[in-house]
Amino acid sequence: MAYQALYRVWRPQTFSDVIGQGVITQTLRNAVASNMTSHAYLFSGPRGTGKTSCAKILAKAVNCLNPHDGEPCNECEICKAANENRLNDVIEIDAASNNGVEEIRDIRDKVKYAPTEAKYKVYIIDEVHMLSQGAFNALLKTLEEPPENVMFILATTEPQKIPATIISRTQSFTFRRISRQDILDRMVYILNDKNIKYDEEALNIIAASAEGGMRDALSILDQALSYGDDELTLKNAQEVTGALSNEQIVSYMTAIAENRPADALTSLYQILASGRSAMRFTEMIIRVCRNLILYNSNSDLSQQMDKSVMTDELLAIADKFDNTRLFYIVDQVSATQKNLKNSNQTDVYMEILTVKISEPKVEQQVLSPSTSSQEEVETPVDNRKVEQLGDEIASLKQEIKQLSNQSQTPASNSQNYNSKPKRSSKKGTHLNKTAIYQVLENATKNDLNTAKDIWPDLMSMLSITQRSIMSISEPVAASNEGIVVAFDYEMWFETAQDGFLDELTNNVGKLLKKDCQVVLVPKAQWPEIRKEYIANNIDSNKSNNVESKSEQKKTDPTVDEALKLFGDDGVVEVKDD
Ligand SMILES: [Zn+2]
Repeated sequence: MAYQALYRVWRPQTFSDVIGQGVITQTLRNAVASNMTSHAYLFSGPRGTGKTSCAKILAKAVNCLNPHDGEPCNECEICKAANENRLNDVIEIDAASNNGVEEIRDIRDKVKYAPTEAKYKVYIIDEVHMLSQGAFNALLKTLEEPPENVMFILATTEPQKIPATIISRTQSFTFRRISRQDILDRMVYILNDKNIKYDEEALNIIAASAEGGMRDALSILDQALSYGDDELTLKNAQEVTGALSNEQIVSYMTAIAENRPADALTSLYQILASGRSAMRFTEMIIRVCRNLILYNSNSDLSQQMDKSVMTDELLAIADKFDNTRLFYIVDQVSATQKNLKNSNQTDVYMEILTVKISEPKVEQQVLSPSTSSQEEVETPVDNRKVEQLGDEIASLKQEIKQLSNQSQTPASNSQNYNSKPKRSSKKGTHLNKTAIYQVLENATKNDLNTAKDIWPDLMSMLSITQRSIMSISEPVAASNEGIVVAFDYEMWFETAQDGFLDELTNNVGKLLKKDCQVVLVPKAQWPEIRKEYIANNIDSNKSNNVESKSEQKKTDPTVDEALKLFGDDGVVEVKDD
């Protein structure tokens, strides 16, 4: 007999065989047992979660000659014929390949004829969202006036693509992803039944990569077993799932440990280029970190390490990390996973993550969080603090002076900001407000558009690391002589400000063929700064020009000013995404 795929051989034949959809199968059983089935069902949910299996079982159960409590007997003529796909009254249609109106019209014509062998004629339409509009219309006509003894079971992975008129005429069930544990248990059951030895970790890898789909899990298991050996090995499971090879993860983690972002990125690109999914890679990083944390704890905990993940090569780099840093990495990776789920720019998020966790500066920042604010509380009369505050006041004075007398440009302004003590995570440490105000004074929508136009070219002039840092920045205001660039993360703002601001300015100059200063700002502070500037500007306008007051009354002056500076959409320029 030809080899049959595991998911076919082990396809559930009764409702109670179906895994992970208890509520749905119980409801369907009750309906069959009490003869209260509907003439149309809609089964929606991710692939491989049991929709088609349930449809087939339901088709069998309503036709079974000896049903028990709503379950098909699988022994009568009808059940046998259905199990062997030779029951003419159960008609399966794959809408992905039959999306034409003709096919559905065909159903409409034939649906009138009574079932030939069984009690009910059951149409199972898979991937029903693929039907054309015309086909949906034809189907709707049939659902509106359903003939006796006909049942439609529509299955789809994308219910949102199905017209509401169709949905309202069906009884709808939403299938959930199957839990990892349920998938594991099922695979163990099958392997035991087939008397095949297996590596636990190999099963874990397969269950993880199936992402809640039983059919996927069994297909992967099939492939891993097809490598031979009559046993499921870790290596085969890794090959099939594209799990990371040990070598790749070691080189990536070493670059992270040694604060070499460029090498870490190179390693990342190799991993992604070899077809590994970003999500799976992040799961691997977390598992490795977990194990390193246990190992570094030097206690009984290290007994709980996942031996198959922790190879000698990885243990060798364990002392390059301390646990604080590992916790930080896990935090960052988890945050990235959330973004990965909602984005199709997964590579960008992985680049950002990689640079972030491999930056030595970031590490220090996290290891000694807000030291300065603690000092503020404990030693209020600290001299350094007083000095710093003095600096700040001086800067503020300068700004006010400059705002009220715009012809004067004090040269010492920006130095005032930059000469403050380094390595403080206090907000505004390196922020060059004066330069930002200068740009805002002459900002126009046109200049901003020009800046946005050259942005892709500017990115291509940067190094890989710089590009990753800049990839979540954007120009938010521009004048003829300057561009304000906002950064999603404050620490990246600092990295760029200290690292390659001059390079940015030079490159922008080359692209625009004129001198143009680039000024950086953390995005979180941008709305505040802009508001401040506008408020100041309006105050001085008011005192200078009393006549225009009556005109301004009609509209919100802040909005007016913002419109002038940033254009219509400029008011909501700072996006939260
Ligand atoms: Zn039966």
